[in-house]
Amino acid sequence: MNVPTPAAPSPGAVRSPVSQAPPGTALELDRAHVFHSWSAQGSLQPLTIAGGLGCEVWDDEGRHYLDFSSQLVNINIGHQHPRVVAAIAEQAQVLTTISPAHANLTRGRAAQLITERAPDGLDKVFFTNGGADANENAMRMARLHTGRSKILSAYRSYHGNTGSAVVATGDWRRIPNEFAHGHAHFFTPYLFRSDFWASTPEEECARALEHLARVVECEGPASIAAILLETVPGTAGVLTPPPGYLAGVREIADKHGILLILDEVMAGFGRTGHWFAFDAHDVRPDLVTFAKGVNSGYVPAGGVIIDAPVAATFDDRVFPGGLTYSGHPLAMAAIVGTLEAMADEKIVENARTVGAEHIGPGLQALAAAHPVIGEVRGSGVFWALELVADQETRAPVAPAVVGAVKQGCLDRGLLPFVADNRLHVVPPCVVTPAEVDRALAVYDEVLTEAEAAL
Ligand code: PLP
Repeated sequence: MNVPTPAAPSPGAVRSPVSQAPPGTALELDRAHVFHSWSAQGSLQPLTIAGGLGCEVWDDEGRHYLDFSSQLVNINIGHQHPRVVAAIAEQAQVLTTISPAHANLTRGRAAQLITERAPDGLDKVFFTNGGADANENAMRMARLHTGRSKILSAYRSYHGNTGSAVVATGDWRRIPNEFAHGHAHFFTPYLFRSDFWASTPEEECARALEHLARVVECEGPASIAAILLETVPGTAGVLTPPPGYLAGVREIADKHGILLILDEVMAGFGRTGHWFAFDAHDVRPDLVTFAKGVNSGYVPAGGVIIDAPVAATFDDRVFPGGLTYSGHPLAMAAIVGTLEAMADEKIVENARTVGAEHIGPGLQALAAAHPVIGEVRGSGVFWALELVADQETRAPVAPAVVGAVKQGCLDRGLLPFVADNRLHVVPPCVVTPAEVDRALAVYDEVLTEAEAAL
Protein backbone atom coordinates (compact mmCIF):
# COMPACT_ATOMS: atom_id res chain seq x y z
CA MET A 1 0.00 0.00 0.00
CA ASN A 2 1.17 3.53 -0.58
CA VAL A 3 1.94 4.44 2.98
CA PRO A 4 5.20 5.92 4.30
CA THR A 5 7.49 3.27 5.74
CA PRO A 6 8.05 3.93 9.45
CA ALA A 7 11.44 3.21 11.00
CA ALA A 8 11.66 -0.33 12.35
CA PRO A 9 11.20 -0.38 16.14
CA SER A 10 14.19 -1.57 18.10
CA PRO A 11 13.65 -4.99 19.70
CA GLY A 12 11.82 -4.64 22.99
CA ALA A 13 10.94 -0.97 22.39
CA VAL A 14 7.32 -1.55 21.37
CA ARG A 15 4.89 -3.07 23.86
CA SER A 16 1.34 -4.18 23.21
CA PRO A 17 -1.35 -2.63 25.47
CA VAL A 18 -1.74 -5.80 27.53
CA SER A 19 2.01 -6.27 27.90
CA GLN A 20 1.96 -3.58 30.64
CA ALA A 21 0.97 -6.39 33.03
CA PRO A 22 3.82 -7.71 35.23
CA PRO A 23 6.08 -10.43 33.69
CA GLY A 24 4.95 -13.96 34.34
CA THR A 25 1.25 -13.30 34.06
CA ALA A 26 1.13 -14.33 30.39
CA LEU A 27 1.92 -17.91 31.35
CA GLU A 28 -0.39 -17.88 34.37
CA LEU A 29 -3.33 -16.58 32.32
CA ASP A 30 -2.54 -19.07 29.57
CA ARG A 31 -2.52 -22.03 31.93
CA ALA A 32 -5.71 -20.86 33.61
CA HIS A 33 -7.78 -20.08 30.51
CA VAL A 34 -6.26 -21.05 27.13
CA PHE A 35 -7.04 -24.44 25.60
CA HIS A 36 -4.25 -25.41 23.17
CA SER A 37 -4.24 -27.19 19.77
CA TRP A 38 -3.24 -30.84 19.29
CA SER A 39 -2.17 -31.30 22.93
CA ALA A 40 -2.98 -32.99 26.19
CA GLN A 41 -3.52 -29.84 28.25
CA GLY A 42 -2.34 -30.95 31.69
CA SER A 43 1.44 -30.79 31.37
CA LEU A 44 1.82 -27.92 28.88
CA GLN A 45 4.41 -25.22 29.64
CA PRO A 46 4.28 -23.01 26.53
CA LEU A 47 7.08 -20.56 25.81
CA THR A 48 5.85 -16.99 26.26
CA ILE A 49 6.47 -14.73 23.27
CA ALA A 50 5.95 -11.02 23.86
CA GLY A 51 7.34 -9.46 20.68
CA GLY A 52 9.28 -10.01 17.49
CA LEU A 53 11.16 -8.31 14.68
CA GLY A 54 12.54 -9.83 11.49
CA CYS A 55 13.91 -13.29 12.32
CA GLU A 56 13.86 -12.73 16.11
CA VAL A 57 11.25 -13.06 18.83
CA TRP A 58 11.61 -12.37 22.55
CA ASP A 59 9.85 -13.37 25.74
CA ASP A 60 8.48 -11.02 28.39
CA GLU A 61 11.78 -11.04 30.26
CA GLY A 62 13.68 -9.90 27.16
CA ARG A 63 15.26 -13.24 26.28
CA HIS A 64 15.74 -13.36 22.49
CA TYR A 65 15.30 -16.31 20.15
CA LEU A 66 16.29 -16.68 16.51
CA ASP A 67 13.07 -17.91 14.91
CA PHE A 68 14.01 -20.81 12.62
CA SER A 69 10.43 -22.13 12.79
CA SER A 70 8.71 -19.09 11.25
CA GLN A 71 6.16 -20.03 13.97
CA LEU A 72 4.01 -22.56 12.05
CA VAL A 73 6.07 -22.01 8.88
CA ASN A 74 3.99 -18.97 8.06
CA ILE A 75 5.97 -15.80 8.81
CA ASN A 76 7.66 -15.65 5.42
CA ILE A 77 8.24 -11.89 5.51
CA GLY A 78 9.59 -11.95 9.09
CA HIS A 79 8.07 -10.54 12.24
CA GLN A 80 6.62 -7.02 12.32
CA HIS A 81 7.56 -5.99 8.80
CA PRO A 82 6.90 -2.22 8.96
CA ARG A 83 5.14 -2.05 5.58
CA VAL A 84 2.67 -4.78 6.50
CA VAL A 85 2.02 -3.30 9.94
CA ALA A 86 1.47 0.12 8.31
CA ALA A 87 -0.86 -1.33 5.66
CA ILE A 88 -3.04 -2.92 8.37
CA ALA A 89 -3.03 0.30 10.42
CA GLU A 90 -3.92 2.40 7.38
CA GLN A 91 -6.81 0.08 6.48
CA ALA A 92 -7.99 0.10 10.12
CA GLN A 93 -8.35 3.88 9.90
CA VAL A 94 -10.58 3.57 6.82
CA LEU A 95 -12.72 0.43 7.15
CA THR A 96 -12.08 -2.45 9.54
CA THR A 97 -14.74 -4.87 8.30
CA ILE A 98 -17.19 -5.29 5.44
CA SER A 99 -19.42 -8.12 4.24
CA PRO A 100 -18.07 -10.39 1.50
CA ALA A 101 -21.06 -9.39 -0.65
CA HIS A 102 -19.62 -5.91 -1.31
CA ALA A 103 -16.87 -4.88 -3.69
CA ASN A 104 -13.91 -3.31 -1.93
CA LEU A 105 -10.75 -1.86 -3.42
CA THR A 106 -8.31 -3.48 -0.97
CA ARG A 107 -9.92 -6.90 -1.55
CA GLY A 108 -9.81 -6.49 -5.32
CA ARG A 109 -6.18 -5.40 -5.22
CA ALA A 110 -5.23 -8.39 -3.00
CA ALA A 111 -6.90 -10.78 -5.48
CA GLN A 112 -5.15 -9.04 -8.39
CA LEU A 113 -1.71 -9.34 -6.75
CA ILE A 114 -2.29 -13.06 -6.06
CA THR A 115 -3.62 -13.96 -9.52
CA GLU A 116 -0.83 -11.98 -11.26
CA ARG A 117 1.57 -14.55 -9.83
CA ALA A 118 -0.54 -17.58 -10.83
CA PRO A 119 -0.59 -19.27 -14.26
CA ASP A 120 -2.70 -17.59 -16.99
CA GLY A 121 -6.36 -18.47 -16.65
CA LEU A 122 -6.30 -18.84 -12.87
CA ASP A 123 -7.80 -15.37 -12.50
CA LYS A 124 -10.30 -15.62 -9.64
CA VAL A 125 -9.82 -15.94 -5.87
CA PHE A 126 -12.26 -17.15 -3.23
CA PHE A 127 -10.99 -15.87 0.12
CA THR A 128 -11.17 -17.91 3.32
CA ASN A 129 -9.97 -17.49 6.90
CA GLY A 130 -7.03 -19.91 6.58
CA GLY A 131 -5.68 -23.02 4.90
CA ALA A 132 -8.14 -25.68 6.08
CA ASP A 133 -11.21 -23.86 4.78
CA ALA A 134 -9.32 -23.08 1.56
CA ASN A 135 -8.94 -26.83 0.99
CA GLU A 136 -12.52 -27.43 2.13
CA ASN A 137 -13.82 -25.03 -0.53
CA ALA A 138 -11.47 -26.25 -3.26
CA MET A 139 -12.77 -29.80 -2.72
CA ARG A 140 -16.35 -28.48 -2.79
CA MET A 141 -15.70 -26.66 -6.08
CA ALA A 142 -14.12 -29.76 -7.62
CA ARG A 143 -17.05 -31.94 -6.52
CA LEU A 144 -19.65 -29.53 -7.89
CA HIS A 145 -17.73 -28.89 -11.13
CA THR A 146 -17.21 -32.57 -11.96
CA GLY A 147 -20.42 -33.94 -10.42
CA ARG A 148 -18.23 -36.58 -8.72
CA SER A 149 -17.71 -37.18 -5.01
CA LYS A 150 -14.32 -38.72 -4.28
CA ILE A 151 -11.09 -36.93 -3.38
CA LEU A 152 -7.72 -38.71 -3.56
CA SER A 153 -4.87 -37.39 -1.43
CA ALA A 154 -1.54 -38.50 -0.01
CA TYR A 155 -0.86 -40.46 3.18
CA ARG A 156 2.06 -38.11 3.79
CA SER A 157 0.12 -34.87 3.97
CA TYR A 158 -1.59 -32.30 6.16
CA HIS A 159 -4.48 -30.28 4.73
CA GLY A 160 -6.08 -28.69 7.82
CA ASN A 161 -8.38 -29.25 10.77
CA THR A 162 -11.92 -29.07 9.34
CA GLY A 163 -14.43 -31.73 8.17
CA SER A 164 -13.08 -32.82 4.77
CA ALA A 165 -9.62 -31.24 5.05
CA VAL A 166 -8.67 -33.33 8.06
CA VAL A 167 -9.95 -36.50 6.36
CA ALA A 168 -7.99 -35.61 3.21
CA THR A 169 -4.97 -35.35 5.54
CA GLY A 170 -2.81 -38.46 5.63
CA ASP A 171 -1.01 -38.16 8.97
CA TRP A 172 -2.15 -39.26 12.45
CA ARG A 173 -4.44 -36.26 12.83
CA ARG A 174 -6.94 -37.84 10.39
CA ILE A 175 -7.54 -40.98 12.43
CA PRO A 176 -9.50 -39.52 15.42
CA ASN A 177 -11.41 -37.15 13.10
CA GLU A 178 -12.54 -39.43 10.29
CA PHE A 179 -16.19 -38.33 9.92
CA ALA A 180 -16.34 -37.01 6.33
CA HIS A 181 -16.78 -39.52 3.51
CA GLY A 182 -15.61 -39.72 -0.09
CA HIS A 183 -11.84 -39.81 0.55
CA ALA A 184 -9.12 -42.28 -0.42
CA HIS A 185 -5.34 -42.06 0.03
CA PHE A 186 -2.22 -43.11 -1.82
CA PHE A 187 1.57 -43.07 -1.37
CA THR A 188 3.68 -40.32 -2.88
CA PRO A 189 7.44 -40.26 -3.58
CA TYR A 190 9.77 -40.38 -0.57
CA LEU A 191 12.99 -42.01 -1.76
CA PHE A 192 14.69 -41.96 1.66
CA ARG A 193 11.97 -44.26 2.99
CA SER A 194 10.67 -45.62 -0.30
CA ASP A 195 7.34 -47.43 -0.28
CA PHE A 196 8.24 -48.74 -3.74
CA TRP A 197 11.61 -50.44 -3.06
CA ALA A 198 13.16 -47.81 -5.33
CA SER A 199 16.81 -46.80 -5.27
CA THR A 200 16.85 -43.82 -7.66
CA PRO A 201 14.60 -40.76 -8.04
CA GLU A 202 13.63 -41.99 -11.52
CA GLU A 203 12.51 -45.37 -10.16
CA GLU A 204 10.67 -43.74 -7.25
CA CYS A 205 8.87 -41.38 -9.64
CA ALA A 206 7.87 -44.06 -12.16
CA ARG A 207 6.67 -46.49 -9.47
CA ALA A 208 4.77 -43.84 -7.52
CA LEU A 209 2.95 -42.91 -10.73
CA GLU A 210 2.18 -46.56 -11.50
CA HIS A 211 0.81 -46.91 -7.96
CA LEU A 212 -1.39 -43.80 -8.38
CA ALA A 213 -2.70 -45.05 -11.73
CA ARG A 214 -3.68 -48.33 -10.04
CA VAL A 215 -5.36 -46.53 -7.11
CA VAL A 216 -7.36 -44.40 -9.58
CA GLU A 217 -8.43 -47.52 -11.48
CA CYS A 218 -9.44 -49.34 -8.29
CA GLU A 219 -11.30 -46.36 -6.77
CA GLY A 220 -13.28 -45.90 -10.02
CA PRO A 221 -12.06 -42.99 -12.18
CA ALA A 222 -15.61 -41.79 -12.89
CA SER A 223 -16.19 -41.25 -9.16
CA ILE A 224 -13.07 -39.14 -8.54
CA ALA A 225 -13.51 -35.35 -8.50
CA ALA A 226 -9.95 -34.34 -7.67
CA ILE A 227 -6.47 -35.31 -6.64
CA LEU A 228 -5.37 -33.03 -3.81
CA LEU A 229 -1.62 -32.75 -3.17
CA GLU A 230 0.71 -30.48 -1.27
CA THR A 231 3.12 -29.42 -4.02
CA VAL A 232 5.93 -30.06 -1.53
CA PRO A 233 4.54 -31.98 1.47
CA GLY A 234 5.70 -29.80 4.38
CA THR A 235 4.88 -31.12 7.84
CA ALA A 236 5.36 -34.64 6.43
CA GLY A 237 9.05 -33.85 5.89
CA VAL A 238 9.70 -31.32 3.09
CA LEU A 239 9.33 -34.01 0.42
CA THR A 240 10.16 -32.24 -2.85
CA PRO A 241 8.73 -34.48 -5.59
CA PRO A 242 11.20 -35.91 -8.12
CA PRO A 243 11.30 -34.33 -11.59
CA GLY A 244 8.32 -35.46 -13.66
CA TYR A 245 6.14 -36.64 -10.77
CA LEU A 246 3.66 -33.76 -10.72
CA ALA A 247 3.50 -33.71 -14.53
CA GLY A 248 2.74 -37.45 -14.37
CA VAL A 249 -0.04 -36.88 -11.83
CA ARG A 250 -1.49 -34.21 -14.13
CA GLU A 251 -1.45 -36.71 -17.01
CA ILE A 252 -3.30 -39.36 -14.99
CA ALA A 253 -5.85 -36.75 -13.86
CA ASP A 254 -6.41 -35.48 -17.42
CA LYS A 255 -6.91 -38.99 -18.76
CA HIS A 256 -9.94 -39.38 -16.48
CA GLY A 257 -11.34 -35.83 -16.28
CA ILE A 258 -10.11 -35.49 -12.69
CA LEU A 259 -9.11 -32.04 -11.35
CA LEU A 260 -5.74 -31.34 -9.74
CA ILE A 261 -5.74 -29.23 -6.56
CA LEU A 262 -2.31 -28.12 -5.36
CA ASP A 263 -2.13 -27.13 -1.70
CA GLU A 264 0.40 -24.29 -1.46
CA VAL A 265 -0.62 -23.30 2.07
CA MET A 266 2.86 -23.98 3.49
CA ALA A 267 4.99 -24.20 0.32
CA GLY A 268 3.65 -21.05 -1.39
CA PHE A 269 4.64 -17.38 -1.36
CA GLY A 270 8.40 -17.65 -1.23
CA ARG A 271 9.02 -20.62 1.04
CA THR A 272 10.71 -22.77 -1.65
CA GLY A 273 12.44 -19.77 -3.24
CA HIS A 274 9.61 -19.33 -5.78
CA TRP A 275 6.31 -17.47 -5.57
CA PHE A 276 4.57 -20.84 -5.89
CA ALA A 277 6.35 -24.13 -5.26
CA PHE A 278 4.85 -25.50 -8.52
CA ASP A 279 6.79 -22.82 -10.45
CA ALA A 280 9.77 -25.19 -10.18
CA HIS A 281 7.75 -28.10 -11.64
CA ASP A 282 6.23 -28.75 -15.02
CA VAL A 283 2.58 -28.69 -13.90
CA ARG A 284 -0.51 -26.51 -14.17
CA PRO A 285 -3.12 -27.02 -11.42
CA ASP A 286 -6.88 -26.39 -11.75
CA LEU A 287 -7.18 -25.05 -8.22
CA VAL A 288 -4.52 -23.68 -5.87
CA THR A 289 -5.06 -23.29 -2.14
CA PHE A 290 -3.02 -20.81 -0.12
CA ALA A 291 -2.82 -19.15 3.33
CA LYS A 292 0.18 -18.62 5.66
CA GLY A 293 2.82 -16.83 3.54
CA VAL A 294 0.30 -14.80 1.51
CA ASN A 295 0.34 -12.25 4.36
CA SER A 296 2.58 -14.06 6.82
CA GLY A 297 -0.41 -14.57 9.09
CA TYR A 298 -0.41 -10.95 10.31
CA VAL A 299 -4.23 -11.21 9.99
CA PRO A 300 -5.70 -14.67 9.30
CA ALA A 301 -6.42 -15.30 5.59
CA GLY A 302 -6.40 -18.02 2.98
CA GLY A 303 -8.08 -18.78 -0.28
CA VAL A 304 -8.55 -20.74 -3.48
CA ILE A 305 -7.22 -19.58 -6.86
CA ILE A 306 -9.63 -20.87 -9.50
CA ASP A 307 -9.02 -21.79 -13.15
CA ALA A 308 -11.46 -20.35 -15.68
CA PRO A 309 -13.45 -23.53 -16.47
CA VAL A 310 -14.13 -24.19 -12.78
CA ALA A 311 -14.99 -20.54 -12.17
CA ALA A 312 -17.36 -20.63 -15.18
CA THR A 313 -19.33 -23.49 -13.56
CA PHE A 314 -20.57 -20.91 -11.09
CA ASP A 315 -21.38 -18.15 -13.59
CA ASP A 316 -25.06 -19.09 -13.66
CA ARG A 317 -25.16 -21.57 -10.82
CA VAL A 318 -24.99 -20.58 -7.16
CA PHE A 319 -21.74 -21.45 -5.39
CA PRO A 320 -23.05 -22.93 -2.13
CA GLY A 321 -20.32 -21.66 0.18
CA GLY A 322 -19.31 -18.54 2.08
CA LEU A 323 -17.78 -17.08 5.23
CA THR A 324 -18.59 -13.91 7.19
CA TYR A 325 -14.93 -12.87 7.02
CA SER A 326 -14.17 -13.91 3.43
CA GLY A 327 -11.93 -11.12 2.12
CA HIS A 328 -11.75 -9.29 5.48
CA PRO A 329 -10.29 -5.82 4.82
CA LEU A 330 -7.56 -6.04 7.47
CA ALA A 331 -6.43 -9.42 6.11
CA MET A 332 -6.60 -8.05 2.56
CA ALA A 333 -4.51 -5.00 3.52
CA ALA A 334 -1.96 -7.36 5.05
CA ILE A 335 -1.88 -9.31 1.74
CA VAL A 336 -1.37 -6.13 -0.30
CA GLY A 337 1.34 -4.85 2.07
CA THR A 338 3.07 -8.25 2.13
CA LEU A 339 3.06 -8.97 -1.59
CA GLU A 340 4.14 -5.45 -2.53
CA ALA A 341 6.98 -5.49 0.02
CA MET A 342 8.06 -9.00 -1.00
CA ALA A 343 8.27 -7.91 -4.65
CA ASP A 344 9.97 -4.54 -4.00
CA GLU A 345 12.50 -5.97 -1.55
CA LYS A 346 13.16 -9.12 -3.60
CA ILE A 347 12.34 -11.31 -0.62
CA VAL A 348 11.54 -14.42 -2.68
CA GLU A 349 14.87 -14.04 -4.47
CA ASN A 350 16.55 -13.73 -1.06
CA ALA A 351 14.97 -17.03 0.05
CA ARG A 352 16.21 -18.73 -3.12
CA THR A 353 19.78 -17.38 -2.87
CA VAL A 354 20.25 -17.87 0.87
CA GLY A 355 18.86 -21.40 0.49
CA ALA A 356 21.16 -22.32 -2.39
CA GLU A 357 24.30 -20.59 -1.14
CA HIS A 358 24.12 -20.81 2.65
CA ILE A 359 21.44 -23.08 4.15
CA GLY A 360 21.85 -26.01 1.71
CA PRO A 361 25.69 -26.11 1.77
CA GLY A 362 25.71 -25.45 5.54
CA LEU A 363 23.35 -28.35 6.24
CA GLN A 364 25.30 -30.65 3.91
CA ALA A 365 28.47 -29.79 5.84
CA LEU A 366 26.67 -30.63 9.09
CA ALA A 367 25.52 -33.94 7.59
CA ALA A 368 29.12 -34.79 6.68
CA ALA A 369 30.13 -34.21 10.32
CA HIS A 370 27.15 -35.78 12.07
CA PRO A 371 26.13 -39.42 11.53
CA VAL A 372 22.80 -38.65 13.24
CA ILE A 373 21.77 -36.80 10.06
CA GLY A 374 20.43 -39.36 7.61
CA GLU A 375 19.40 -36.95 4.86
CA VAL A 376 19.21 -33.23 4.06
CA ARG A 377 16.32 -32.14 1.80
CA GLY A 378 14.91 -28.87 0.63
CA SER A 379 15.26 -25.57 -1.20
CA GLY A 380 14.79 -21.89 -0.41
CA VAL A 381 13.95 -21.58 3.28
CA PHE A 382 12.20 -24.98 3.38
CA TRP A 383 14.55 -27.74 4.63
CA ALA A 384 14.40 -30.91 6.71
CA LEU A 385 17.07 -33.00 8.42
CA GLU A 386 16.17 -36.68 8.93
CA LEU A 387 17.63 -37.70 12.29
CA VAL A 388 18.53 -41.41 12.37
CA ALA A 389 19.82 -43.74 15.07
CA ASP A 390 21.66 -45.79 12.44
CA GLN A 391 22.87 -44.67 9.01
CA GLU A 392 22.53 -48.19 7.56
CA THR A 393 19.00 -49.04 8.67
CA ARG A 394 17.85 -45.37 8.68
CA ALA A 395 15.93 -46.12 11.88
CA PRO A 396 14.48 -42.85 13.18
CA VAL A 397 15.91 -41.49 16.43
CA ALA A 398 13.70 -41.95 19.50
CA PRO A 399 11.27 -39.13 20.47
CA ALA A 400 13.48 -38.38 23.53
CA VAL A 401 16.37 -37.48 21.20
CA VAL A 402 14.17 -35.10 19.26
CA GLY A 403 12.99 -33.61 22.57
CA ALA A 404 16.61 -33.06 23.63
CA VAL A 405 17.45 -31.46 20.27
CA LYS A 406 14.51 -29.10 20.66
CA GLN A 407 15.43 -28.16 24.23
CA GLY A 408 19.11 -27.75 23.26
CA CYS A 409 18.11 -25.25 20.56
CA LEU A 410 15.86 -23.30 22.96
CA ASP A 411 18.61 -23.19 25.61
CA ARG A 412 20.90 -21.62 23.01
CA GLY A 413 18.34 -19.01 21.90
CA LEU A 414 17.02 -20.71 18.76
CA LEU A 415 13.37 -21.51 18.17
CA PRO A 416 13.38 -24.81 16.20
CA PHE A 417 10.67 -26.67 14.28
CA VAL A 418 10.62 -30.41 14.94
CA ALA A 419 8.27 -33.03 13.51
CA ASP A 420 8.53 -36.79 14.17
CA ASN A 421 12.26 -37.62 13.88
CA ARG A 422 13.05 -34.49 11.88
CA LEU A 423 14.44 -31.04 12.43
CA HIS A 424 12.87 -28.65 9.91
CA VAL A 425 14.99 -25.62 9.03
CA VAL A 426 12.37 -23.06 8.10
CA PRO A 427 13.39 -19.46 8.87
CA PRO A 428 11.59 -16.44 7.39
CA CYS A 429 12.41 -15.65 3.74
CA VAL A 430 14.23 -12.49 4.91
CA VAL A 431 16.88 -14.51 6.76
CA THR A 432 20.47 -13.29 6.35
CA PRO A 433 23.64 -15.38 5.84
CA ALA A 434 24.83 -14.24 9.31
CA GLU A 435 21.61 -15.55 10.91
CA VAL A 436 22.03 -18.85 9.03
CA ASP A 437 25.57 -19.13 10.42
CA ARG A 438 24.27 -18.55 13.96
CA ALA A 439 21.67 -21.28 13.51
CA LEU A 440 24.14 -23.73 11.99
CA ALA A 441 26.47 -23.26 14.99
CA VAL A 442 23.56 -24.06 17.35
CA TYR A 443 22.55 -27.15 15.34
CA ASP A 444 26.18 -28.31 15.35
CA GLU A 445 26.42 -28.16 19.17
CA VAL A 446 23.01 -29.70 19.74
CA LEU A 447 23.60 -32.58 17.33
CA THR A 448 27.00 -33.27 18.92
CA GLU A 449 25.21 -33.61 22.27
CA ALA A 450 22.51 -35.82 20.71
CA GLU A 451 25.14 -38.15 19.26
CA ALA A 452 26.96 -38.40 22.58
CA ALA A 453 23.68 -39.51 24.19
CA LEU A 454 22.85 -42.12 21.51
N1 PLP B 1 -2.38 -27.17 4.21
C1 PLP B 1 -1.09 -27.26 4.57
C2 PLP B 1 -0.08 -27.78 3.60
C3 PLP B 1 -0.68 -26.85 5.85
O1 PLP B 1 0.61 -26.95 6.20
C4 PLP B 1 -1.65 -26.35 6.74
C5 PLP B 1 -1.26 -25.91 8.09
O2 PLP B 1 -0.18 -26.16 8.57
C6 PLP B 1 -2.99 -26.28 6.31
C7 PLP B 1 -3.31 -26.70 5.05
C8 PLP B 1 -4.05 -25.75 7.23
O3 PLP B 1 -3.95 -24.38 7.36
P1 PLP B 1 -4.68 -23.62 8.56
O4 PLP B 1 -4.02 -24.09 9.82
O5 PLP B 1 -4.47 -22.17 8.25
O6 PLP B 1 -6.12 -23.98 8.51
